[in-house]
Amino acid sequence: MSHIELAERYGARNYHPLPVTLVRGEGEWVWDDAGNRYLDMLSAYSAVNQGHLHPRVVAAATAQLGRIALTSRAFHNDRLGPFLARLAAVSGFARVLPMNTGAEAVETAIKAARKWAFQVKGVPADAAEIVVAEGNFHGRTTTIVGFSTEEQYRLGFGPFTPGFRAVPFGDADALEAAITPRTAAVLLEPIQGEGGVILPPPGYFARVRELCTRHNVLLILDEIQTGLCRTGRTWAFEHEGIRPDAICVGKALGGGIYPVSAFCADSAVMDVFTPGDHGSTFGGNPVASAIGLAALDVLESEHLAARAAENGAWLMAELRRLRTPVEVRGRGLLIGVELDRDARPVCEALMRRGILCKDTHHTVVRFAPPLVVAREALEHAMGVIAEVMP
Ligand SMILES: *Cc1c(COP(=O)(O)O)cnc(C)c1O
Repeated sequence: MSHIELAERYGARNYHPLPVTLVRGEGEWVWDDAGNRYLDMLSAYSAVNQGHLHPRVVAAATAQLGRIALTSRAFHNDRLGPFLARLAAVSGFARVLPMNTGAEAVETAIKAARKWAFQVKGVPADAAEIVVAEGNFHGRTTTIVGFSTEEQYRLGFGPFTPGFRAVPFGDADALEAAITPRTAAVLLEPIQGEGGVILPPPGYFARVRELCTRHNVLLILDEIQTGLCRTGRTWAFEHEGIRPDAICVGKALGGGIYPVSAFCADSAVMDVFTPGDHGSTFGGNPVASAIGLAALDVLESEHLAARAAENGAWLMAELRRLRTPVEVRGRGLLIGVELDRDARPVCEALMRRGILCKDTHHTVVRFAPPLVVAREALEHAMGVIAEVMP
């Protein structure tokens, strides 16, 4: 049986991948099992911002694998401290709690917000509420899908965790109306990625910030997809001129090779955790920490925020010259092209011509190449895209 037949025969059917088997990657390029080369314009949903197998990330991982890989948090390891210090500096938050997947970072945010509400704000025990946005995507745990508004993510998976209220993304009045004395936090993506690359209206986040401050509610931003230079700044919230109270980071924090995530917050929030409250066997392990440190190094030393801003502006301008798209929107190298039809056949046509991307939210093609992508590679991609959707 082929690779694909084996996966289909023995795997759960929880994904519907494009019919291509990737066997090698380097920078912005990947190769299939027949030796065909493709430009990766998905970057594993922004987990590969540094490009495939970035030599410095691989070197850090390999070196660490020659020393020690897993200690658990029952003991200290010599890589965790430097990693946390670096992420604290990059994020501007005083404290960092390391986890593995994005969903775990979001779960950590939810636990922190609830306990903060109970301990600091004085909300009765087990009564805290969190306001979220319609169209959100924060991961796939039962608690998180419980506050999704996407029917398929929820159907049949209940009963769900109570304590969440969803309001339309971009509507600050609706958000204010949802805040009660029991509200612990507002949890939002700065740009809704899985929701179809939905940008907030200008001024929205400034108002949300002001509302959260006024009502003593934490503003927690999920920067798992938008963070780490994807939108042309280190964090997408920088475009809004605000500072949240905490952020969730993941995806590219693992340098494209390993699951590394974190919840970053100021001490007033993070201090609600005491030993035994929360944890993860693999979170903050020496390999993860070494990789996270290298992943952050690469973003900074290769000026990937500036490159994302420049190349993203160029690509978006080129895409806007096409007649087919209904709308082209995005920031930096997180770009959504809205079509008047199902986007999957377009992604399949692009795949046959050596461009890998994935439809999101049915009618949107998302273009999010590794941030190390060369301009010439994007020029080549534009030529192909213009053939497929003129
Ligand atoms: C991918 C993603 C997550 C979940 O991350 P996993 O590592 O898949 O658990 C959460 N929030 C956002 C915004 C994401 O894009």
